[in-house]
Amino acid sequence: MNSSPASPLIDQAADLAQEALEYVMAHGLVRYRKDGSIGHLPFTLYPWEAPKGFYEHGRRVSPLYNKLYLRVSQQRDFLDEHLAASREVDDFVKGLYSCLPEKPISRPWLFLSRNDFMPAVTPQGIVPKQVETNLMAASLGYASQRVNAAIRFLYAGTELVKQVVPHRGGSTICKGLALGYKHYARAGQVILFIVPPGEVNAFDQRSMQAELVLEYGIPVVRTTLDELGEQGEIRDGYTCLKGKSAAIAYFRAGYSPDHYTNELAWKGRRLLEHSQTMSIPSVTIQLANTKKIQQVLADQAMLEKFVSPQEAVELLETMVAMAPVDGSMRGGTGRELALAEPENWVLKPSREGGGNNYFGDQMVEQLKKLSKREAEAFILMEAIKQDAFRAVRLVEEKVVDDLCVTEMGHFTYALWDEGKSDPEFEDVEGYLLRTKHVHNREGLVLGGYSFLDTAAVP
Ligand code: ADP
Ligand code: MG
Repeated sequence: MNSSPASPLIDQAADLAQEALEYVMAHGLVRYRKDGSIGHLPFTLYPWEAPKGFYEHGRRVSPLYNKLYLRVSQQRDFLDEHLAASREVDDFVKGLYSCLPEKPISRPWLFLSRNDFMPAVTPQGIVPKQVETNLMAASLGYASQRVNAAIRFLYAGTELVKQVVPHRGGSTICKGLALGYKHYARAGQVILFIVPPGEVNAFDQRSMQAELVLEYGIPVVRTTLDELGEQGEIRDGYTCLKGKSAAIAYFRAGYSPDHYTNELAWKGRRLLEHSQTMSIPSVTIQLANTKKIQQVLADQAMLEKFVSPQEAVELLETMVAMAPVDGSMRGGTGRELALAEPENWVLKPSREGGGNNYFGDQMVEQLKKLSKREAEAFILMEAIKQDAFRAVRLVEEKVVDDLCVTEMGHFTYALWDEGKSDPEFEDVEGYLLRTKHVHNREGLVLGGYSFLDTAAVP
């Protein structure tokens, strides 16, 4: 199972539970429970001891993914060609397309992203393999930096803590937004936060909102797509809400069909897309960020349409095999390969937000049900295999101690002006580390599948 033994300190991790709980409650590592009460987020009592080179490798390659997706987003023909079939069968993709204006509107391209990697066991050793890039609503940055601080506090003075790299994932995304505002906004404009109605992750967003106001003096207005559809208008080219003109609309909603339950929400999205207000992400960036396009790009020749051959090699090194359900690969269709070895594949629709994928028996069942036409809305991805390790964490104030696997997402930002090949500014700093029981397939923290972790980097 695990390759290297954990430090003996792990045996005492449970003793830190009370101190840890009080620290995280004092520092806002909280969420709403289903009944509306407030409790702590599940978090680690002991850092994950990362394999050598894993953290640095993922961090190094992350900005390259932004560059790739920027170029893909700017190629409408490419998106249209590869999403044509999904658009026919998937109403959500169709809905997004319906928001695009006839003629593209000239705006800078701001990326606030999180690149998720797993420590895959491969013949070359343990290397980061990408799960996905999140170009929309990349969240839990503040929660991550708080867990990181909690572990540094709890283990202060030990040898172990010297390896826990301090990070500020939430502040990174916030800084990208603030720099974008400084670069693009006119005097008096605001940033719109587009949130889902009844948001449970409000604390992460409030931290960001407060940092924008207090550190950067930038006014923020929270709204929903429905409200924008009902009350928004375009004035002097920009989306305006209640008399406030918006330089930027930062989406923490809009990635799921559940966020468009009526025509007003679509109206809100169209309004933004038809204005000079810079959406993070714009519809073309969101389309480029679909699982379908991720699958198409997992190929050297395809990557070389957008980046240099050397960059394509670097990207491909961090990718696993992906296939269309009815497309051919390794002498069979994706469907045949996945049915022959269900444990080695994951079936994914072009959806975000977690809980949408099919694994194991459920994947087999779903693959057998899908018609050739319906299968166009899905892709297959090789399952990333990891070594399990022991993890001690606090879940609903109880210590849990068993075998887990993990996933690290590096936070980045970058802005390109229209027509420029080099970014005006970019950075990668901080991460989200989500760890889960070895038998859990999905990775949602707020859905209760996984817990917030932090890394000791050798
Ligand atoms: P979403 O856009 O809904 O977040 P993801 O592609 O990130 O979809 O998948 C959700 C979760 O499923 C991941 O966080 C990970 O835990 C698990 N998962 C996804 N793809 C793979 C894979 N190829 N191998 C192993 N686990 C995976
Ligand atoms: Mg994900």
